[in-house]
Amino acid sequence: MPGFELFGDKEREQVRDVLDSGVLMRYGFDGMRNGHWKAKELEAALAQRMQSKHAHLVSSGTAALTVALASAGIGAGDEVIMPTFTFVASFESILALGAIPVLVDVDDTLTLDPSAVEKAITNKTKVIMPVHMCGSMADLHALQQLCGKHGLLLLEDACQAIGGSYQGKPLGSVGDLGCFSFDYVKTITCGEGGAVITNNEAYYQNAHKYSDHGHDHIGNDRGAEQHPFLGYNFRISELNAAVGVAQLARLDEFISLQKRNYHILREALSIVPEVTFRRVPDGGEENYSFLSFFLPSEEMAQKAHKALGTNGVDACFYWYNNNWHYYRKWEHLTDKKALGKLPEEVIKGLPDYSKTDFSASDYWVGRTISCLIKLGWSEKEMKERAKKMVEVIQSST
Ligand SMILES: *Cc1c(COP(=O)(O)O)cnc(C)c1O
Repeated sequence: MPGFELFGDKEREQVRDVLDSGVLMRYGFDGMRNGHWKAKELEAALAQRMQSKHAHLVSSGTAALTVALASAGIGAGDEVIMPTFTFVASFESILALGAIPVLVDVDDTLTLDPSAVEKAITNKTKVIMPVHMCGSMADLHALQQLCGKHGLLLLEDACQAIGGSYQGKPLGSVGDLGCFSFDYVKTITCGEGGAVITNNEAYYQNAHKYSDHGHDHIGNDRGAEQHPFLGYNFRISELNAAVGVAQLARLDEFISLQKRNYHILREALSIVPEVTFRRVPDGGEENYSFLSFFLPSEEMAQKAHKALGTNGVDACFYWYNNNWHYYRKWEHLTDKKALGKLPEEVIKGLPDYSKTDFSASDYWVGRTISCLIKLGWSEKEMKERAKKMVEVIQSST
């Protein structure tokens, strides 16, 4: 991660096709487009790569989450279980529908703890939304069993984990619905973009309509389309999709570069007795976009992270103090700071997060350092970086 590091001729060629025809819109204009349908082409390639029946592109990963939830009929007052360690998009996408984000602890996988999830289930719960943060997954088997037992949907936020797998299935394809982001810093990028994948025909039909104002996409006359329900505009443009066509074709190349660099770093850090690694559930394979590890205490992790920075080792993250990714800094959610009035269901239903006990999350995330794995680092650079990291961590702990 990220795919923009390896942006080149293939991406330019795809974009040029779109610029040559001048059709920047994914629907219609059949006669003008010289046969180029970049969004459709990327959807077909993504569905195939993800072993899913359907893929539908939208304007962002956040839009993908909202569209996925909407396509399954999630609305006002429905509860969606999500982790304390994620990106703010998780609760934004839920709140956009008037539904309620229910935050739940993470464990040593740095994703949803199934036993904490079970405790949070109420008669309003509709969805469990694990987030495959930093390229790795929760115990999806345990979450699937909970979904079966309580009649819930499993929606995977695979925005940071494209290319990873679980029990042989691509991440994103395990749940009822899966979402990807192709924003500028993700493993593959469209500039901005996202996708919903599903095997469920009804959800797919809802998703493509909902993300284009509710248009039914029947027939060639855009103006004559019916609108079976209310929608919104979450469309992707052909320019963005064109970049994605080139990037998706390189996904396996990107993953193998990440994997090589990840293992160089992991092997080097393994000799440090204080370092333990994030748990990957049985049957899971990461996409190797980050290497995440624990130090024995919060103080040691903070000290090591600071020392890495002052010694010029960039791209290492301490999420515990991060504004975007950890619940401690989400006061806009805790204090319900909306521009307008929030729906009554949300005001009433939102738990008081200033009082919730997330000490289990604090225990894990407070001790975590994650190192971004760049595609552009050569084997030699990676070995030097790994050696430096070991030295810095050893002298700081
Ligand atoms: C990036 C990201 C999103 C949102 O994607 P955008 O395309 O930036 O809207 C959602 N969830 C996670 C875990 C992400 O990392």
